[in-house]
Amino acid sequence: DKTPVTLLGLGDMGTALARAWRAAGHPLTVWNRTPQKAGPLAEEGARVAATQTEAVASADGPVILCLLDDASVDEVLDGADLFGKDLVNLTTSTPAQARRRARWAEKRGARLLDGGIMAVPPMIGRPETGGYILYSGDRALFERHRELLEVPAGAKFVGEDAGHAALHDIALLSAMTGMFAGITHAFALVHEEKDLDRAELASLLVEWLGAMAGSAHEIADQLASGDYTEGVTSNLAMMTAGNDTLLASAEDQSVDPRLLTPYMELMSRRVAQGHGDEGLAGLVTLIRRE
Ligand code: NDP
Repeated sequence: DKTPVTLLGLGDMGTALARAWRAAGHPLTVWNRTPQKAGPLAEEGARVAATQTEAVASADGPVILCLLDDASVDEVLDGADLFGKDLVNLTTSTPAQARRRARWAEKRGARLLDGGIMAVPPMIGRPETGGYILYSGDRALFERHRELLEVPAGAKFVGEDAGHAALHDIALLSAMTGMFAGITHAFALVHEEKDLDRAELASLLVEWLGAMAGSAHEIADQLASGDYTEGVTSNLAMMTAGNDTLLASAEDQSVDPRLLTPYMELMSRRVAQGHGDEGLAGLVTLIRRE
């Protein structure tokens, strides 16, 4: 028999998760602040709890939270008796909020797994799209419910520190932000060009960024060994010289270089400190606040 799932929060993401567990045959109890949103799921066979307190009290399996933000978790669960419950919080939070939430759960006698969803709702329940959920906190809880957690998307456990799923989530989204900035600059460079195929540039960008992303391993190895010259394929002195060509070309193409210059300034600063033979790992220490 499949483990029953209790799910609080039927926004776009919560609804997608609910459908994935229903489709996999898990008995499902749902609750949402605005009850109307539970209507379609009730027709699909989910039990709709009258209150969040009743939903939690009757839960035989994990209680999944997929609410807007950390404050809404307080609002929803303040009056509920959580003793002995397994909570899986898929509400996006900061690492600090996730750690506070773990202490909050422990005080109430509950176990807590925090999750960060690396997918959008249409990817849920469709493993071929490559979406996954990062988990951290109670490892035993993760192992106990692993099969169920793998239903909506891949499940990756990243550590017993409850804040680490959120920290990985934020690290990935932050790196993605830099990548989007680069893509924006690339398309700005060609914006006024006639006879230039944007679709072809897009294909080249996808291929190139994929190949270059592997440098994350080089940086990780250098940070682990403390030798930032280890295995360097392109050193900072060479890359900094190349930056002048990038900036001159931006000027020629009438593009504001603001998305690139903060990073280039860091590279130049590290070279000026006498570290031109290093790779990119040294820049990590430059942006740490004392
Ligand atoms: P929605 O805005 O669609 O839904 C928000 C949900 O939170 C609704 O069920 C809403 O209830 C509920 N809610 C908000 N405030 C309160 C409150 N004070 N008390 C009770 N319930 C409340 O968001 P999503 O479903 O898209 O997102 C849910 C979580 O999933 C978020 O933390 C989000 O960051 C995360 N996530 C979403 C992704 C996405 O692409 N959508 C991707 C990755 C993570 P009501 O219906 O009554 O308003």
